[in-house]
This record gives sequence, C-alpha cells and structure tokens, in this order.
Amino acid sequence: KPASKKKPARGGPARSTVKLTHPDRVYWPDAGVTKQGLADYYAEIWPSIAPYITHRPLSLLRCPSGITGEQFFQKNAWKGLNEAIVLVDDPSTQEVEQLISIEDLDGLTALVQSAVLEIHPWGSTLDAWEKPDMIILDLDPGEGTDWQAVIDAAQEVRQRLADAGLAAFVKTSGGKGLHVVAPLAPKAEWPDIKAFTKGLADAMASDSPDLYVSTISKAKRPGKILIDYLRNQRGQTAVAPYSTRARPGAPVSAPLAWEELSPAIGPAYFTVLNMPTRLASLGTVPWADFRKAAKPLEIAPAGKKKAR
Ligand code: ATP
Ligand code: MN
Ligand code: MN
Repeated sequence: KPASKKKPARGGPARSTVKLTHPDRVYWPDAGVTKQGLADYYAEIWPSIAPYITHRPLSLLRCPSGITGEQFFQKNAWKGLNEAIVLVDDPSTQEVEQLISIEDLDGLTALVQSAVLEIHPWGSTLDAWEKPDMIILDLDPGEGTDWQAVIDAAQEVRQRLADAGLAAFVKTSGGKGLHVVAPLAPKAEWPDIKAFTKGLADAMASDSPDLYVSTISKAKRPGKILIDYLRNQRGQTAVAPYSTRARPGAPVSAPLAWEELSPAIGPAYFTVLNMPTRLASLGTVPWADFRKAAKPLEIAPAGKKKAR
C-alpha cells in the first residue's frame, strides 16, 4: 500500500515501511513493552516528536537486550544500518566517522529496530551546526530534594530566561529531574550560548547557595539541585521530548504545560503506556508554540548595559 507511506490515514497513526525483526522481543519487562510496542508508540506520537529528532545529529542509547541488559551510547555509524538512517559529516572536523541523523518515521523505526531506547539530539540542526536552536537547562536534584523545590527551580530558570527575552518550556526528564528548554532563532554560536547558560546557572547558585549548585564537582549534594548547563556545548546532547528512557516503567521525557507542574506529576510519571492517551485527549499539545516562540539570544557587548 504505497499510498499509506508516512502519510497518516485520517485519524490513524503514521505508518512506517521499515520491517522489524523479533517484534516480540521485550524491551521493558516490568512494563511489558516490546520492540513492536515501542515502534507503535513512536508511530502514534510521530507528529509530536518529529521536530525535535529530525535533521540533527543524534546520540543514541542502544540496549540490544532491553533495559535489563547491556547499554551503550553510540553517535557514529555502525555496520548494517538501515538505509532510512541518514549519515552526516560534521563540517567542522576531519573526523572520518560519520554522525547519525534521521528525517522521517522510517528513520525512527529503523532506530527501534536497532534497539535504540533513548534518543539524544544535538541542540542545533544540520542547517546550522554552530548556531543552536535551543537552550537546555537540566535540573538534577540531589538525594532527598523535594519535588516542589525542583519545580521552584524550573520556575526561576523560566523567569531568568524571560529576563533575557527568551520563552521557556518545561519537560520531565523521564528520569529524576526536569529540563527547561528555550527555543532560539539560530544566531549566537555555541561558545556564547555556553557562556550565557553558565552565567544563569552560576547566578542561581550564588543567589541561593542553600538550594542550588552549578558545578559538577558539587553535584549530588543531598537536598541541592544541580543547574546543569553543560548540555549547551557543541556535540553535547540531552534526551529528546517524547523519547523513551531505558529505565523501569518505560518512562518518557514529557513536555508539560507550566500549570501542570505539581507534586502529583513526578519526573517519570508519563510513560509509553499513558502518553498516547494523554496526547489524544489534549486539545493542544503543551509545546505547540515551541518553534514560533523562538527568539535570538542577544549577546550584550562587554561593558554596555542593554536598555530595557
Ligand atoms: P535525570 O533526570 O535522571 O538527570 P537526564 O536525562 O537529565 O535524566 P543526566 O544524567 O542529567 O540525565 O544527563 C543529561 C544528558 O547528558 C543526558 O540526557 C544525555 O543526553 C547526556 N549524557 C549523559 N551521559 C552520557 C553518556 N555517557 N554519553 C552521552 N551522553 C550522555
Ligand atoms: Mn538531568
Ligand atoms: Mn545532568
């Protein structure tokens, strides 16, 4: 049925033409999610995840035997890759090893076929490798931190981004924390983006030293939250919105509306099992305006204050 390729039938999920081997292989034993189940999840939510994982270099967490077996990160091409996976050359290096990207649902299904259980994209696209189109502040709570404190941290990051003229969106990590993400019009390059996010994280840590730390060496302090800005460097990644995590319960990194943040919704609340229903029942998805809200990061020249 060539007509059904990639185009969703009205009201139905998108379809991939990539064939899965061993569709009954169990990836998340505790949640009962198989390879076929994972492919079905991505087909159902394809329009929601597509903007965040296509046309970017990807770092992939592969788990050939599911979440209970061996896990390894892979960012370079490997032998036997499906042709739906697009190999790209990093324009700035002489690296002979090609990086991995996808452009469509066939590409994503090919990742599922290769036992990719987590998708970690770059914060820049193949159209502008040096100019990120998003900023990610990764909030990592130390042992014993109240979830409300993580929510408060996300709100503070949001306010500080607003002060810099940027819109902010929030998602669960699917692990232990929250990610605050600001869409950018690609303009400033990686070193400026890193400096800006370091400044933001350092300011939070120095204004509230009892709550926040901004250096990895002080991370995992009980009760404190690491404002991890180090995702914002060339070649670094963070897990994609709607990507699954290779952790018990088949959690996904879930975009939320700011009003939804509450102690009732923990970092791994949304999963492969409940996300499709959530998206189907919501009128508009939480990050519908993500790309529309993008603004360039304006770097103030040293010594000058920006008029407001
Ligand atoms: P959590 O909420 O549990 O912190 P997380 O996804 O934010 O989940 P982190 O440990 O904070 O996990 O890592 C942030 C990001 O750094 C990851 O999402 C991933 O993209 C990247 N990362 C971490 N470890 C590796 C690794 N070994 N190889 C490649 N990328 C990694
Ligand atoms: Mn984190
Ligand atoms: Mn982190």
